[in-house]
Amino acid sequence: MTDEKEELKTDEPKSLNFIEQIVEEDMKSGKHGARVHTRFPPEPNGYLHIGHAKAFCLDFGIAQKYGGQCNLRFDDTNPITEDTSYVDAIKKDIRWMGFDWEDREYYASDYFDTLYEYAIQLIKKGKAYVCELSAEEVNATRGTDFEPDKPSPYRDRSIGENLDLFQRMKNGEFPNDSKTLRAKIDLASTNMHMRDPILYRIRHAHHHRTGDKWCIYPMYDWAHGQSDSTEGITHSLCTLEFVPHRPLYEWFINELGIFPSRQIEFARLNLSYTIMSKRKLLQLVNEGHVKGWDDPRMPTLHGLRRRGYTPGSIRAFTELVGIAKRENVIDVAMLEFCIREDLNKTAPRVMAVLNPVKLIVDNYPEGKTEELETVNNPEDESAGTRMIPFSRELYIERDDFMEEPPKKFFRLSPGNEVRLKSAYIIKCESVVKDADGQIKEIHVTYDPTSHSGSPESQRKVKGTLHWVSAPHALDAEVRLYDRLFSDPDPDGHKDHDFKEFINPNSLTILTHCKVEPSLKNAAILDHLQFTRLGYFNVDDDSTPEKLVFNRTVGLKDTWAKMMG
Ligand code: ATP
Ligand code: MG
Repeated sequence: MTDEKEELKTDEPKSLNFIEQIVEEDMKSGKHGARVHTRFPPEPNGYLHIGHAKAFCLDFGIAQKYGGQCNLRFDDTNPITEDTSYVDAIKKDIRWMGFDWEDREYYASDYFDTLYEYAIQLIKKGKAYVCELSAEEVNATRGTDFEPDKPSPYRDRSIGENLDLFQRMKNGEFPNDSKTLRAKIDLASTNMHMRDPILYRIRHAHHHRTGDKWCIYPMYDWAHGQSDSTEGITHSLCTLEFVPHRPLYEWFINELGIFPSRQIEFARLNLSYTIMSKRKLLQLVNEGHVKGWDDPRMPTLHGLRRRGYTPGSIRAFTELVGIAKRENVIDVAMLEFCIREDLNKTAPRVMAVLNPVKLIVDNYPEGKTEELETVNNPEDESAGTRMIPFSRELYIERDDFMEEPPKKFFRLSPGNEVRLKSAYIIKCESVVKDADGQIKEIHVTYDPTSHSGSPESQRKVKGTLHWVSAPHALDAEVRLYDRLFSDPDPDGHKDHDFKEFINPNSLTILTHCKVEPSLKNAAILDHLQFTRLGYFNVDDDSTPEKLVFNRTVGLKDTWAKMMG
């Protein structure tokens, strides 16, 4: 993995990012015995997207770099939206990306008993109380940035009463939302999170792991830091929206006197033409705007995998993006650059014709087949060569022929010569049209001395076309993708729903494609370059009877160009 990373980088030594700096300082000072322990804490309420990949590449990456460990911890504190199917999908994605949490698979729900005990400790210290205000009533007590909140009428309950009520909350004596447990901190704090935050609420709901054992569930803030602490996490890396939560994170740890995990925040990954909210991605799935979480247009890891992205390209992308302290938006073209870089080196070149028109070589013997040698990958000699059949009837791309070409059209036109890749030079003699005036056949002659392996082949012609032999070609379906949104910031318009910006042309299905016979044995997810057309892979739907390919990305690189 390090190798791939290095290949995409320049030779200059990279300076440390600010998180690596903190970790190195801590190690130097011998903090926590110079131990580094991180965690990735997904909530199992949806599939992971590329933003999560950035987070866990960092969590696992820091641990790897400094000889530490990284835990996988499911933050499963909300029974209503969470599900084991998401747990399984998340694990599959992290493994696919090349990371291993070994036996350290944890769940916040593993700590429900501990958290309950911690709550009792706070109550006994007079630092937490059972509040009976409804959500609306709590809102009505809220002050402003400059004015404190009004105290809840239940704020000064006796410790004994609090202990009794909290236990009865746990025992299921009260209906949903009728009571909460709140920390007693500072109603005048300039940080709203410190104004008596809620620790527990009542939810009579079945949990995917703890079943019906609990009817009180901890809030995120109450669960997260203590889970980190329980696991001995040294550096708890999270995104910037948690900055205002940090004082609370530290307050809980101090009050409980438990292991002092440290929270460090970095900027989340935002990608142009994409949305990253799980809730909104779920809407796209549920409302049928895409075919599922693994739709190749989705920014999910399931979607990217199906689309033909490789783990190496995604890791290289997260490296290239770097770690920032301020919010920014990354051009999606940069992600496309990374997959091109990767596939250029690794993907075998094959010939496929997406929009075929028949080409007949009039002076080629009928019934004859020749096997012509062609290289599998000009970027990688070790990939070797293969034989492709040539015969009298071929297919070429309809777009590669024009009856009345403009200037500088270097493809095929009447009276004009082009080379067929790895084969012969041909010359267009005539065309045959159907009743509607559509070209049915292009008739050409070939120059038998011009085979690309022979000395005469030095003869130069301006264009080279890809092709397949008609009797040998396999039928295929090819799916072309465009961006799912037509706006660079679909989620950033105040008076518009993000769904208004869904690109109606994000999927084009071509059902009459022809591909070379070597693809008969292509396996699901194999990566290929279709000569002149882009990078493709074999879709999950593909069968030997019906081949299906996705276009991962086109050949043209806009991002590298932009960078000069
Ligand atoms: P959503 O807000 O869409 O529900 P989330 O951030 O709450 O997503 P979690 O499952 O809680 O989803 O995220 C797990 C971890 O991934 C968190 O530490 C979070 O900070 C990080 N993360 C989520 N989105 C991004 C992103 N776009 N870039 C970097 N890290 C992210
Ligand atoms: Mg979250």
